[in-house]
Amino acid sequence: MPGLPAATSALADAALDARLRAGGRSLRDELGATRSSVAWTAVLAGVGGRPADLADDAVAAVAQGASAVKVKVAGPGDLDAVDAIREAVSVGVAVDANGSLDERPDLLEHLDGLGLRYLEQPVAPGRTWDEIAALRARLRTPLVLDESLRSPDAVRAAVLAGAVDGVSVKPARLGGVAAAAAAARFAADHGAAVFVGGMYELGLGRAAALAVAALAECAWPTDLGPSSRYVEEDLTDPLVLDERGGVVLPEGPGCGRSPLPAALERWTVDEVLLG
Ligand SMILES: [Mg+2]
Repeated sequence: MPGLPAATSALADAALDARLRAGGRSLRDELGATRSSVAWTAVLAGVGGRPADLADDAVAAVAQGASAVKVKVAGPGDLDAVDAIREAVSVGVAVDANGSLDERPDLLEHLDGLGLRYLEQPVAPGRTWDEIAALRARLRTPLVLDESLRSPDAVRAAVLAGAVDGVSVKPARLGGVAAAAAAARFAADHGAAVFVGGMYELGLGRAAALAVAALAECAWPTDLGPSSRYVEEDLTDPLVLDERGGVVLPEGPGCGRSPLPAALERWTVDEVLLG
């Protein structure tokens, strides 16, 4: 369905999940996942949050098991939060600018001097790969693209143009988990670091995307921490953390998680039967 990447991806994943369940096979085996748990980055929500609150969130996430922290920056007002978080935790800190730095070379330069783990999407989508490659060449900080990577083609083009140090692979945007796994493999084979980004997936989508994050090619921590960071009630049993704080890949056929009927009933707003 052109123009509806998330819906298209969800249907592709549902079909794959149904086929795997019918055959008693797990998604992690189907994709070739090599790890049983996955390190994660705590993405601190809330641009414009109070620095002290965000620092507290960061400390709590690291105590919970996060192996890195990512903070959103939309303007100079967010720099105090970046400083407070860097002060508060000993793990790597990344910044996601969500495309906000096109007109802010001063801010870009400041962030580039902080020794960040990486800088995600400094420029808005739509810049040419050559322009981004030239920017990357000027930066000391590893450059990651997210919103620019709207399709598997875009991932391939960005990597081949030398426009990225790392790519955020999002199954919901790239056509589903199989397409995302293929994009991850291409990027890693061509020298880019890869991690699985998140789009507020609930348990089902999170379990499926985790199978991609557990590929050997996805070497950087995924943005997919426990869904309890975002919602009070999930539609599946929650994903759990192992003793090292990694998110454990669900076992069992398909993606390894099923909707809880009572929760599903409580949150259903409409029903559509697809033939
Ligand atoms: Mg992002």
